[in-house]
Amino acid sequence: MSLEQTAGMSDLLRTTRGRTAIFLSASIVALTVATSAQTKVVAPKNSYSAADDVKLGQQASAEVRKELPLLNDESIDSYVEDVGRRLAAAIPPEYQHQEFRYTFDVVNQKEINAFALPGGPMYLNRGMIEASQSEAEMAGVMAHEISHVALRHGTAQATKAQKFQIGAVAGQILGAIVGGTAGSVIAQGSQFGLGAYFLKYSREYESQADILGAQILARAGYDPRQMANMFKTIEKEAGGSSGPEWLSSHPNPGNRYEAINREAATLRVQGSAPGDGRFTAVKQELGGMSPALTAEQIAKRQGQSGGGDRPVGTSGRAVNVEPPSSQYRTYQPGDFMRISVPANWQQLGSGSTVTYAPQGAVFQTQSGGSAFTHGVEVGVASNGTGDLQRDTEALIQSFAQTNPRLRRAGGYSRVNVGGRNGLATTLSNVSEVTGANELISVSTTQLRDGSMLFMIGVTPEQDANTYGQAFSRVRQSIQIADQR
Ligand SMILES: [Zn+2]
Repeated sequence: MSLEQTAGMSDLLRTTRGRTAIFLSASIVALTVATSAQTKVVAPKNSYSAADDVKLGQQASAEVRKELPLLNDESIDSYVEDVGRRLAAAIPPEYQHQEFRYTFDVVNQKEINAFALPGGPMYLNRGMIEASQSEAEMAGVMAHEISHVALRHGTAQATKAQKFQIGAVAGQILGAIVGGTAGSVIAQGSQFGLGAYFLKYSREYESQADILGAQILARAGYDPRQMANMFKTIEKEAGGSSGPEWLSSHPNPGNRYEAINREAATLRVQGSAPGDGRFTAVKQELGGMSPALTAEQIAKRQGQSGGGDRPVGTSGRAVNVEPPSSQYRTYQPGDFMRISVPANWQQLGSGSTVTYAPQGAVFQTQSGGSAFTHGVEVGVASNGTGDLQRDTEALIQSFAQTNPRLRRAGGYSRVNVGGRNGLATTLSNVSEVTGANELISVSTTQLRDGSMLFMIGVTPEQDANTYGQAFSRVRQSIQIADQR
């Protein structure tokens, strides 16, 4: 379990009182609706500069070019570039950033997907072009992606997630995309691993990109309703197997088609785009080529060049640690709590969270964070909603941002944490360190100031029995004294 960029955690070693920060669910003022006029989209708060976007996007783009098979067909590339340039020129002036450079490449991949990196580099899967019924549909997806870039959603998301990590700079995020997780672009058959910040958008951001995308389409001479049509096509394909990646990075904000069509009704299509002549020729050319590679084929290729069959993006290290001692030792990680852990575990860290782990179980990740394979971590997540299950969900989502293979393994159960009502659930993950399956047990309870105490236990799947017992004993040992 890698924990480098867990958001919303506050310093356990300080008192739990007096925190004013906002938890993950920080709301973003998305859309101001003006009746019968086009919607004004307000770009979310962002602590990065436009120049940061460019830098981060360039770095990520260099990785992408190493990892993904580009089609490299001159006529098809130049066609997509022409469409892209037309759209980029149609971005309303208030969303233009002088530093940004919109570039367009076609990836020879079958799955319907496209993604754009901060500052402008866009990658369009061949499968996306092949699934489009018209140039306007293809342009719809591109306009949507361009809107994420223009609204700087990638770094806005990073801003949200890193609210508490004072001094957190571009380097940290850079690490996450360029470091170990970049490889999982392929393993996932998607861009999920490539910095979830940049590529997996919230529903609010989706609405924004749909609205601005529709406006850009209209300004570029396309019928904005074609974007809604394309999303429908993708959704249909997702019933098969080739669309879900796009959908998982661009979740339907709800009533997507209605919202796009409503916006379209307020827009006037300016001029007219060139028509489908070149589009049809390009589709024909694609049809004559040998089929695009599947994500799986690409992953295999990648695995061969990377050596070994471990999941891409993991280091495949062997880990050898002593089983948990039956003797327990008590620690006081914060001034309001005590916890007892197996005597052969050590206390590590003093920042946002404290880890207790046996020797040999903690690793530095390539991105400069830490990951551990065995042990527990305790921490406090500040200012939640007061609804324990919701806050626990938000915590799990924050873990998922740096652990792209994190999955649910069960529902919630009620447990006792420090003499209080708490919740527990289990997740499965693929260890970034070993590449093997691991189980994560999460327990949470509310503190009196509204923040949430959490304990997570991490164990390789094959040691789940031994460690599961240790985790419940540790959990039962927790004592909380946070009265005012
Ligand atoms: Zn999107």
